[in-house]
Formats: sequence, structure tokens, C-alpha cells
Amino acid sequence: MSTDHSAARERLAALPADTRVAVVTGASSGIGEATARELAAQGFHVVVGARRLDRLEALAQEIGGTALPLDVTDADSCAAFCAAVPRLHVLVNNAGGAKGTTTVMDADEDQWRWMWETNVLGTLRMVRGLMPVLISTGDGLVVTITSVAAFETYDKGSGYTSAKHAQAVLHRTLRGEFLGEPVRFTEIAPGMVETEFSLVRFDGDDDKASSVYQGLTPMVAQDIAEIVGFAASRPSHVNLDQIVVKPRDQHSATRAHRR
Ligand code: NAP
Repeated sequence: MSTDHSAARERLAALPADTRVAVVTGASSGIGEATARELAAQGFHVVVGARRLDRLEALAQEIGGTALPLDVTDADSCAAFCAAVPRLHVLVNNAGGAKGTTTVMDADEDQWRWMWETNVLGTLRMVRGLMPVLISTGDGLVVTITSVAAFETYDKGSGYTSAKHAQAVLHRTLRGEFLGEPVRFTEIAPGMVETEFSLVRFDGDDDKASSVYQGLTPMVAQDIAEIVGFAASRPSHVNLDQIVVKPRDQHSATRAHRR
């Protein structure tokens, strides 16, 4: 463990016994950042992880949390992050995203690898690394941000839809495998949320990214953060299994009303 990780572990271990701890992956922007703020407002000490450490540190300072570098595609980075968390009540598997839009025949294997590594294997690594502390705390919750792409398929979207289906199946399987243990599982599957998501998908192309939301009112990151906060604030015998949430203007992954 680096000094950063050791210092974080000592700091977290020294928190008052009644302080609830949350981990939010991909907290440097969008849904993860808003979720970290929402959980901090509920009194959680939030450990935020992502690759852009400058953003994380500013956020951690603002919410009184802890920032740690995290690349969910790197097993060593995940292991070091998880080893720094001595106890935990809520894990939000949020880090993820899409790259490109191509048909199956034109699939770019690097883009597929990025999407599978980030959304699927990233979730697997964080769950495996943190499940022991979630359970030993006696009241754990795992929230995974999947997508309507975990329920639907659409042309030129198979890299992302297949990764989100796989991430969702991983998450839903845990509900059965940990039945009887003191841990809950909530899947939140959003439709369109205006974040950096489309900018990442279209490789920084602003025009393409903003055209996704043109003529309709998309959700914002705070809309999803409040749902995470709602799930986390239910009494521990209540498990919200799945929440699908879309803008009023969106019917499905491929059909929306645009003015
Ligand atoms: P975003 O603004 O692009 O945020 C993505 C976050 O994931 C960033 O904080 C990014 O941080 C982090 N991330 C990406 N690769 C990572 C890696 N290898 N290791 C650690 N963190 C990584 O997009 P968002 O909309 O908030 O997306 C959050 C989640 O919601 C994703 O899983 C996405 O698939 C899902 N979702 C989004 C929408 C939507 O319409 N926006 C709809 C349904 C589901 P760094 O780059 O700093 O590492």
C-alpha cells in the first residue's frame, strides 16, 4: 500500500464507531460526483475513487471525505483501494461508460475491451475486494449503476449494451449468492442523464455529445444521486432490487420525444 492508502486506512479506522462509510467509484464527474455529495449530506464519510485525482481531492475536501486513486481496469489499483477501507456500509459501483457506436461487424476491439474492463470487470473487482468489509460491518448495501442498456439492445450499441447486460447479471447474481447475509443489493438503471458520458462516448466531440440530448429534457446527475440516497436511507430489512428511471421524454433506449 502507498502512503496515501495507509494514511487513508488509519483515518477511516479512527472515525467514530457510528459513522457510516460509503465508497463511490467514478466520483470525479457526473452521477458518481453527485452521489458522493448526496451521501455526504446524509452523514456518510464518503471514500471517492477515480483516475482524475485533482477533481477527487477537491470533492473530498468539500464533503469531508477521503480521495483515493482508482483505476477499476487495473487489478492492483483496485486491491490497493479496497485494502485501505477497513469498514464499509455502502458501495456504489458507478465507474463506467461507453466508447463509440459501431455495428457488430465494425466492432473496435479496443473499445469493447475498455467497456468490458470498466463496467464489468471493474464491478467484479470492487465487489470482490469490498464484500468482506461490507458483511463484517453487519449492514451493507451494494448499489450498481447499470443502464436501460442492461435491458435493451440497439443497433450500433452492442459493445455497451453487452457490457451493461453483463454488469447487471453479475450484480443480480449477488442477490442470490449472498441471500441470508447482512447485505442488500440495488440496481439502478438510468436512461439519458446529461453528464460527461456522451463526451467520453464520442471521444470529446462536443457537437455529437450534445445532439444526444437535443430537443428533450434529460435527467441530471442529481436525479440519480437522490435515488441512491433514497435506497441507502431505507431501513436495513428493505431491499430495493431494481429501479429503472428515464426522462419523461424517453420511452426506451431508441425512442424519445424531441421538440
Ligand atoms: P461520466 O460523467 O463520464 O462519469 C464516469 C465516471 O467513471 C468518471 O468519474 C470517470 O472518472 C469514471 N471512470 C471511467 N473509467 C474509470 C476507470 N477505469 N477507473 C475508475 N473510474 C473510471 O458519466 P456518468 O453518466 O456519470 O456515468 C456513471 C455511470 O452511469 C456509468 O456506469 C454509466 O455507464 C452509467 N449510466 C450513464 C447514463 C447516462 O446517460 N449518463 C445512463 C445510464 C447509465 P475518471 O475518468 O476520472 O477515472
